Amino acid sequence: MKEQGFTTHLVHHDHNQNLEFGAIHAPIYNSATYGYDDIHDLIDIFQGRQIGQAYARQATPTIDMLQNMICEMEQGKASLCFSSGMAAIVAVFLTLLKGGDHIVASRFLFGNTSSVFGTLKSFGIEVTLVDATNVANVAAACQANTKMVFVETIANPATQVCDLAEIGELCDAKGLLYVVDNTLTSAYLFQPKAVKCHLIVTSLSKYFGGHGNVIGGSVTDTGLFDWSQYPNIFEAYRKGDPAMWGYAQMKKKGLRDMGACLSSEAAGQLALGSETMALRVKQSSSSALALALMLENHPKVERVYYPGLESHPEYARAKSLFSASGSMLSLDLKEGLDCCQFLNALKLVISATHLGDNRSLALPVAPTIFHEIGLAARQESGISENMIRCSIGIEDTDDLLADFTQALANL
Ligand SMILES: *Cc1c(COP(=O)(O)O)cnc(C)c1O
Repeated sequence: MKEQGFTTHLVHHDHNQNLEFGAIHAPIYNSATYGYDDIHDLIDIFQGRQIGQAYARQATPTIDMLQNMICEMEQGKASLCFSSGMAAIVAVFLTLLKGGDHIVASRFLFGNTSSVFGTLKSFGIEVTLVDATNVANVAAACQANTKMVFVETIANPATQVCDLAEIGELCDAKGLLYVVDNTLTSAYLFQPKAVKCHLIVTSLSKYFGGHGNVIGGSVTDTGLFDWSQYPNIFEAYRKGDPAMWGYAQMKKKGLRDMGACLSSEAAGQLALGSETMALRVKQSSSSALALALMLENHPKVERVYYPGLESHPEYARAKSLFSASGSMLSLDLKEGLDCCQFLNALKLVISATHLGDNRSLALPVAPTIFHEIGLAARQESGISENMIRCSIGIEDTDDLLADFTQALANL
């Protein structure tokens, strides 16, 4: 049979698990612990000889189902869920790196991820930030102790698109762990495995769940990395199939020891939200493009940042890699215009942080999410002081165009 499409597979995922009573949604298992008639079963689970549940800090049947769904979406070997995108990212760094290691990372990163690098430095892990839109900068930053390259697909807020395919080739040739944060594209717009990514991290709080009601994160091992050659795997996890060593270490150290586990309740909400991911992302990307085109020609707008515009420096790359350009766009108003006045004049668009919500959201970048890093770092990241970031939702395109138009007229 022909392989099923993205949404077909998602909406039939639960029912195909042979659920009790023919249920079409998997039940949400809220049990913290799991009991066995024969204690030998529990012992075998603890010792990895048998698959099963023990304690909800490592998994629940609901989390397992979500993990399997994510793994299939991303064509991976195994996936793990965490309590937030940040928990997933921190788990990757803290479980797979050690003092004395070096990371090369994109300079254009989600602000909190950059903030984590400050913490890593204090533990003796070196970080070099580069303009990763050109692989040559990544290659030039690699050192003898480099273990990992970390990039995002579309950078927030200035929408730079990293040299994803060439960085994949570089990591492959050098045996470096290639980690891609796919949050801003989602599994629907981009498959990082296609550019030889080893670990995909995603904030499920954004496009995956989509409804702005729950926070979560995931890591997927694409199965392309040779863990038998990775020096940082603890002896305890050098057992069985080497393809699962990295996963085992992230699960034990990241979930069991660090404890940032997702709840079954949240997993159930995320699974439900994900059913409409393709429909939502298609609609919001199409509105974002319509808005970007309108804004680019508007006399009160200085600049629009959106990878779907031909004027975008990485337009060709985004077009070849992503099935649409996503729903985040940023803009600079013309000199002298007040971005707060503009945001207050928007009637439909909510002034709020967050991305990938069904509702359109916007905020001024410099005084909020990029306030803490200061002016110099903002300039390094290509963030203007007047920049407004918008996360376009699934409202009707005409309503969004009308709202932006009236708010600009108001200035
Ligand atoms: C939001 C976001 C994160 C963090 O995710 P949370 O679920 O909010 O912790 C990480 N990376 C990117 C690109 C994000 O947009």
